[in-house]
Amino acid sequence: MRVPLIAGNWKMNTTVNEATGLVRAMRDELDKITDVERVICPPFVSLAPVKELLKDSTLKLGAQNLYFAEKGAYTGEISPLMVADLCEFVIIGHSERRHYFNETGEIVNKKVIAALKVGLKPILCIGERLDENEAGKTEDVLTGQLTSSLNGIDNLDGLVIAYEPVWAIGTGKAATGEWANKTIAFIRQHIAQLYDEKVAQEMRVLYGGSVTAANAAEFMQQPEIDGALVGGASLKATEFLSIVTQTSVFSTRK
Ligand code: PEP
Repeated sequence: MRVPLIAGNWKMNTTVNEATGLVRAMRDELDKITDVERVICPPFVSLAPVKELLKDSTLKLGAQNLYFAEKGAYTGEISPLMVADLCEFVIIGHSERRHYFNETGEIVNKKVIAALKVGLKPILCIGERLDENEAGKTEDVLTGQLTSSLNGIDNLDGLVIAYEPVWAIGTGKAATGEWANKTIAFIRQHIAQLYDEKVAQEMRVLYGGSVTAANAAEFMQQPEIDGALVGGASLKATEFLSIVTQTSVFSTRK
């Protein structure tokens, strides 16, 4: 059985003070829900102080990005070793990075390889744009992104996939549970083709795109959906807690 996972992507929000305040506001309640893996991904500068706050907590920490080189003259970048020192997870290939920072499939692939090498669990984001969706190209886009991101990787070791249709991210227009479930089933099928059925069945695949406390149940009751990558709603303690709580309720019914 796949353990559900809810990850909060705080994006470029919160100062260190705000980040530690938000952790204090949600940590103790989130710690009561043990059948869902709970991950928060604050900005880099807050990772160390937040880690300190999570010393006695089961809440896990993730970074929002990394660079693929281990160290050296890459001004402003953060290496996999630095991330692994503080975090268990790392988001890779988020559509905002693909689109605003020109991250290609080849770069995403190098980042996934670099993360796995140091024992980090990548949350690999894939998803189609609105024009691709409307042109009926969703499956082709996802197949291409999976094939390029996982190129040359034999062992996926804890990697999680987040299906995040670009048109649903930060727009308030979430996909339907039915669409997300069907698309995630397709992703799992493609993983079985690239690897094998066991890898596909064990792989956690999340949905991401305007998940809130109000629509979480629609996604969490779907058999193929193993949790969510949550952006905006993860910045509100009560919203995030409600999403995790609803995930816990549905996980026992699946
Ligand atoms: C995200 O940042 O991955 C995301 C899904 O954002 P939002 O929940 O705000 O759409």
